[in-house]
Amino acid sequence: MRLLPQARDLVVKTSSTPENLTYAGVMTDVSSATGPATPLLREWATHAWKHGGALASAALDVVFPPSCLVCRTAVAAHGALCPACWRGIGFIEKPYCERLGTPFAYDLGVPGLQSPEAIANPPVYHRARAVARFEDGPVRDLVHRLKYGDRMELAKPLGRWMARAGAELLAEADLLVPVPLHRHRLMWRQFNQAHALAQVVAHLSGKTADPFALKRIKPTRPQVGLSRARRAENVQGAFAVPEAAAVAGRKIVLIDDVLTSGATLNAAARVLLRAGAARVDVLVFARVVGAA
Ligand SMILES: [Zn+2]
Repeated sequence: MRLLPQARDLVVKTSSTPENLTYAGVMTDVSSATGPATPLLREWATHAWKHGGALASAALDVVFPPSCLVCRTAVAAHGALCPACWRGIGFIEKPYCERLGTPFAYDLGVPGLQSPEAIANPPVYHRARAVARFEDGPVRDLVHRLKYGDRMELAKPLGRWMARAGAELLAEADLLVPVPLHRHRLMWRQFNQAHALAQVVAHLSGKTADPFALKRIKPTRPQVGLSRARRAENVQGAFAVPEAAAVAGRKIVLIDDVLTSGATLNAAARVLLRAGAARVDVLVFARVVGAA
């Protein structure tokens, strides 16, 4: 039990930086974390998590040393990646297409430039932004772990990156709307990753997230393996806006974990616009680049 005074000492050193937000997310991993935890310490750390962020983060540093979100190698802070995993992530930086948010190979120095694809095949939504390429390294792994609910604490760090990547869109937004799951799938999975991400982004951007603004009224097959046309067909009529007054005249940012062909987000944007939304932008953690 000599660990407890050390934990208290750490509290003094812990400043309330935004980074602490990540810690609270990682705390929920108490049950799955590995470490030298006795049942009493484990209980104490859980109690600390429920009753104070800084105290809890200090306690967790002692009981469960911070580990990489992907490979669990030891790192300096909770909610971080080790250098190898960090290098593996294809972060999307400017210059990118103003519309699709897909990166350009060269900087032509022209602000607001659109890609040939955005001009040939414009999306229903206004603009999309993503943190990273879905295809690269640990990104697919992070998305998969968040989606299937066994690593819900990932929503905090991923949402934090999203808030940064979508800062421009968020600054203009009136409302954040997570892409909903159909109730059957929600029942089976118990967790909507888009909703979890939207809550984190809303908290960091000071905006409101409304998980009821959009409803999934038709169960759809997973989009994986379907052609572009079949994907659009699959999600046609999948969404509805229960109350037009909740979205009418408002600038909306749709939040999801991944953008692949864009069919799902186009379908969601279409019903929001039909219900009178002033504009619909899209913010995701990862997007497919190239084949989209
Ligand atoms: Zn790693």
